[in-house]
Amino acid sequence: MRTRALLLLVAAILSALPASKPVRADALARLKPDRLEAVHQAVLGLKAQRRDIERPEPYLDFRANLHVHSAFSHDSRGKIDDIVTAAKSAGTSIVMFSEHPADHYDFFKEGHQGIKDGVLLIPGAEMKGFLVYPTFSLRGVETGSPQELSDLVRGRGGLLFVSHLEERMDWEIRGVTGVEIYNTHADFKGEKNLIAAMRNPLWLFQSADLFRKYPQEAFSALLDYPADYLRRWDELCEHAPHTGVSANDAHQNVGLALRLIEGDKVQVEDALGEKLLELGASSNPLILPLLKDKKVGDPLFELRIDPYVNSLRHVGTHLLLKEQTKDAVWDALETGRAFVAFDWLADATGFDFAAISAKDRHEMGSRIPLTNGLKLQGQAPLAARWKLLRNGKLVAESTGRTFETALTERGNYRVELWLEIAGEQQIWILSNPIYVGVAATQ
Ligand SMILES: [Zn+2]
Repeated sequence: MRTRALLLLVAAILSALPASKPVRADALARLKPDRLEAVHQAVLGLKAQRRDIERPEPYLDFRANLHVHSAFSHDSRGKIDDIVTAAKSAGTSIVMFSEHPADHYDFFKEGHQGIKDGVLLIPGAEMKGFLVYPTFSLRGVETGSPQELSDLVRGRGGLLFVSHLEERMDWEIRGVTGVEIYNTHADFKGEKNLIAAMRNPLWLFQSADLFRKYPQEAFSALLDYPADYLRRWDELCEHAPHTGVSANDAHQNVGLALRLIEGDKVQVEDALGEKLLELGASSNPLILPLLKDKKVGDPLFELRIDPYVNSLRHVGTHLLLKEQTKDAVWDALETGRAFVAFDWLADATGFDFAAISAKDRHEMGSRIPLTNGLKLQGQAPLAARWKLLRNGKLVAESTGRTFETALTERGNYRVELWLEIAGEQQIWILSNPIYVGVAATQ
């Protein structure tokens, strides 16, 4: 009855909205109930097989989320308490914000920072095509061209990553810390049919139960291997080391709500609470059943597509640190001691990829000479498909919880770990490179 009333209500809303194009269901294959259930079962299966592993000394694995927006940004209403709660339940202990700068606040001075409930918060901004984590306030500072902004921030010990690579594949900025090698929003932008579907309130209503039943699987249905990003990253790393990080681009701003206002009027809102349109309730027999026991201000229907907990869990950047401090975070990101993982599939904590010489261990990001007896070694908490890439080209493949190969050629080596999920190969882990025998200057 409730569902039927909602569908009828939707018909009323649709007639009041500008027409949106019909969507072919086959383009949204991953959002079908059977498919979501299969993915859900596969993820449960991986969880059962997963074994906790200890990282070799001296580093510990801390999961970080970069590129996170809160209510400081015009396109988010995220409260810090909710973001910290979401981070904790996603297994994240470091959140690096990327607010949109604006005149009414100083993102560096007023932005979220310090330890809150065990989570380390680091203020930053999304500006001029970068994720910027400066060591001083940029307010009122003439930041110039992208290269000048980079020089300014890097020159005083800040971090800076090229963001939204899909918009700036041709950029050659000297001295940056690194680049986003995955951006959730860029991945989403490629889903033309999904985007069209989400503009259609009828689709949102019909899909609401699926998003409630499988919030993570439905959110993460957008995941595609970021081939273009990785190709560009590999090219950049041939000129100079670039630390690869993942960008959650989390806003919690996609969804739809119906709210009772002024007695008999119902407001249709987007996920930021912005009014889309208003409907009369008392004259509309379809809406009336929804009003039962509701008072002014109450939601009648609510659907969030991108709650923080799901966007933060989707992908993370794991940092290898001795302690959970800002200095340690800086060191790991400067040196590339990090990897990217789609932890919604399985918690990647403990993953390791290193070069081993006669007496030394060289972590991801290391720049080392090619010596006799050098080998690459890795371990993961699950058996996975390991793909070893040299300068972006596949050179070896194997399956298992561990990986080992001898090194006889110079080059930039990184690994990708893949899992099979409901019949589909999915990218799980992207390591940072180890730079072997290359005169890397940065
Ligand atoms: Zn953003």
